[in-house]
Amino acid sequence: MRASLAQREPERLRKWNENHVYEQLMKKNEGHDKFVLHDGPPYANGPIHIGHALNKISKDIINRFWSMRGYQTPYVPGWDCHGQPIEHKVETDLGSEKFNSLPAATIRRICREYAVENVDVQRNGFKRLGVLAEWDNPYLTFTHDYDAADVQIFKAIFDKGAIYRGSKPVHWCKHCHTALAEAEIEYGNEKSPAIFVRFALRDVPSGLEAFEGKTDVIIWTTTPWTLPANAGVALNPDETYVAALIDGRAEILAEALVERVAEIAGWENVEFAMNPNGERWSATGSELLGLTYTHPIFSDYAGKFIVADYVSMEDGTGCVHTAPGHGVDDYNAGNKFDLPVIMPVDDDGKLYKGEGIGTGGIFGGLDTDEASPKIIEWLKEQGTLVAHRDIEHSYPHCWRCKNPVIFRATSQWFVSMDKTGLRQSALDAINNDVKWYPAHASKRISSMVEGRPDWCISRQRSWGVPIPSFTCADCGETVMNDATLDAVIALFKEKGSDAWFTDEPASYLGDACECPKCHSHNLKADKDILDVWWDSGVSHTAVLDNRPDLHRPADMYLEGSDQHRGWFQSSLLTSVGAYDEAPYKAVVSQGFVLDGNNRKMSKSLGNVIDPNQVCDTQGADIIRLWVSSVDSSSDVPCDMEILSRVGDAYRRFRNTLRFLLGELEGQFDADQMLPVSDLEMYDKLVLARMCQVHDEVTKAYESYKFTGVYRTLYDYVTELSNGYLNATKDRMYCGGVDSHERRSAQTTWAYILSMLVHDMQPILAYTTDEAMEFMPEGLKEGQEFAALLDWFQNPMDEKMVSELLPVYDDMVEVRSAYTKAYETALEEGVVEEKTTQATRATVYAPEKVVSELQGKVDMAEVLVCSSVDFEVADEISVKVAPAEGVRCPRCWNWRPEAEDGLCERCHEVLSNMEK
Ligand SMILES: [Zn+2]
Ligand SMILES: [Zn+2]
Ligand SMILES: [Zn+2]
Repeated sequence: MRASLAQREPERLRKWNENHVYEQLMKKNEGHDKFVLHDGPPYANGPIHIGHALNKISKDIINRFWSMRGYQTPYVPGWDCHGQPIEHKVETDLGSEKFNSLPAATIRRICREYAVENVDVQRNGFKRLGVLAEWDNPYLTFTHDYDAADVQIFKAIFDKGAIYRGSKPVHWCKHCHTALAEAEIEYGNEKSPAIFVRFALRDVPSGLEAFEGKTDVIIWTTTPWTLPANAGVALNPDETYVAALIDGRAEILAEALVERVAEIAGWENVEFAMNPNGERWSATGSELLGLTYTHPIFSDYAGKFIVADYVSMEDGTGCVHTAPGHGVDDYNAGNKFDLPVIMPVDDDGKLYKGEGIGTGGIFGGLDTDEASPKIIEWLKEQGTLVAHRDIEHSYPHCWRCKNPVIFRATSQWFVSMDKTGLRQSALDAINNDVKWYPAHASKRISSMVEGRPDWCISRQRSWGVPIPSFTCADCGETVMNDATLDAVIALFKEKGSDAWFTDEPASYLGDACECPKCHSHNLKADKDILDVWWDSGVSHTAVLDNRPDLHRPADMYLEGSDQHRGWFQSSLLTSVGAYDEAPYKAVVSQGFVLDGNNRKMSKSLGNVIDPNQVCDTQGADIIRLWVSSVDSSSDVPCDMEILSRVGDAYRRFRNTLRFLLGELEGQFDADQMLPVSDLEMYDKLVLARMCQVHDEVTKAYESYKFTGVYRTLYDYVTELSNGYLNATKDRMYCGGVDSHERRSAQTTWAYILSMLVHDMQPILAYTTDEAMEFMPEGLKEGQEFAALLDWFQNPMDEKMVSELLPVYDDMVEVRSAYTKAYETALEEGVVEEKTTQATRATVYAPEKVVSELQGKVDMAEVLVCSSVDFEVADEISVKVAPAEGVRCPRCWNWRPEAEDGLCERCHEVLSNMEK
């Protein structure tokens, strides 16, 4: 059966395409309310993986559900096509030398071709999973209108005053030559040299006058290559600092850390500078603020003491080397105390050659990695190195080339989080306007927005949308205003952003081509491009606004939890920044797919599950069922063993459908269905239970808990095949063809079949569609494809359901008491035949239960035994004894014998057939 899924699904997919099922679906609900699930664009790079499958199938389940509920669910898939991974791939393929020699326009063409190819590969993978979408008209982030939307949003946020140009330390990859966003950083352990260095004080702190010229501060750093950029030493304002006497010098450090530093530096029996009153000299950080010292590399330069709350007493000396050009904390603290931003490192990560502050001095020309050991060596020679040891710590790495990154102050474009209140507005939107699934996801994104620095949106690459700024060739002024921005929007709409790299600004800027400062008309287009997260982030405008069948804000975004840092956030910031509202009404956050042992999937571990391969061997419905079986609100496991268990569950669903279809196909149709009020009592009770199950399933879909759908339906089909379907086989096979009892059972089976096909359709898209072929016509709502069905309507009203359910529960309880009693009777030899049909039962039960069941429900049928007697008792129990009568050779039931050796019912059925 597995093999047949793998073969049959592609045929069915072909049929969906030929019959335009997606378009039919849009047509069916035309004019209804819309439910717009906006697709987060996967990156167009490489074949699809199991994480993609989880994502796209989840979206498809949601769309199929709301569509059955009557909503129009236009679903436009998209791809993120710009950005560094593709450019990096192209650079690797071409070789860096060739790559660097090509003009930007050529690199961009090759990148675009690569993206288009990969879009095709991924699209085929997604289609095969059974996902219904506007596959022929997806959104791609490099189209002209998309490029224009990037600048439209830029202009909206620029006009509000939130975009600025500044020099700031940003994550910088010296291998990829670009600034990196927080979302492009991966943390991993790195070995670094931790060094303790003494800086000689120029001022004497009061009380240490005796050590004039012989006082130092001991600092600690794990990045020796940043010492040329040192501008200050940060102390904790409230901690106590003392002066240890080492080799006749007074060494200032935090009292709390003296012991640890002494151990590392090998100081023994440390003595301290004392006050005249005999107490140890001490001062708080605040008291030392403003003192100056001689720069550790450039002796003609003075740094100064500042204070900062982040200086901790956990590591080091409590005196932190501060280089505002190389760290965000340093930059912010330095800003407060007017420390200069010294930046001696170039794009390649090399220290500038030259003399004096702002260069690498004698370390000029060295790469940051080469510089560290050289600087340590030199400090040692100078006698200022107090101690050195290597430590392992978590360190940021580039997401593409995996190399450690550096912090480096560069001139970049930023979106200010606070100048226009963007941070607060975004937080308000998260907390007040958006529904989060699971609810705690809102905390995750809130804390990220609360703590994030200004958004650095510029990148020094080619494959992206340019930052629409110009530089005056005559006076160096940066030129950007409404007129230039409007001209760029018009240019991109017409020619796409490629034109930026080929056309002269004068040719499209018109009157706007003028420097506001020197009135020169000689403007040059700048080279930076926008962060790729900006690209995908503005899809609320480029896609939701620009496509007439969609709307903004979207009803839902659904992605992996990493997008709290990525797309959820860049969409939110650009939307709140431009429109003062969130781009989505609801967000579903999903976990990652791990292997069965909760490890990340990787080629080297050999634990990768390839969705294409699973489709080709087991079928897409197995992956779809797996998606529904896991709780995707956190990380989910997947391996071959798990898929094989899902395969077992699939067979249970499929067999139930087949069993129901087998007795209905060609034998029964909707016009033969009895009114619910005319059904046998057993059938009514079972229908009430079915309605309950359907309501539970509906609620689970509505709250996007697919695992609830799966669990409920799995338990239900198990309950059915052990109970009702088994018990009513007799009526179906042996009852009179047109008899009321058989029609009543058929009616109930038909409802159950219909309910299962409807409720499983969003998940088992292929299998339920296959079942449609064999369904009685009257149950198909005039449709050929299961996706086009409307949501199942319970055949009973709620009042009836709630009246019948307690009776159903009592009946089930009696049944399980019987099962237990039967097993005991078998063990004890009370009954010998190994079939329940060969038994009779006495049911002991409270009066309420007896009155519900006795004479109303055919309990012999429910228990599949020969006869049932009732006795009133305090609790439910059952006594089993051998059946009386004989076994009917036709139906195998033990009943009183009629004239021809058959039971009364079979005798009648046969004689009616003869007539
Ligand atoms: Zn890199
Ligand atoms: Zn100018
Ligand atoms: Zn019979």
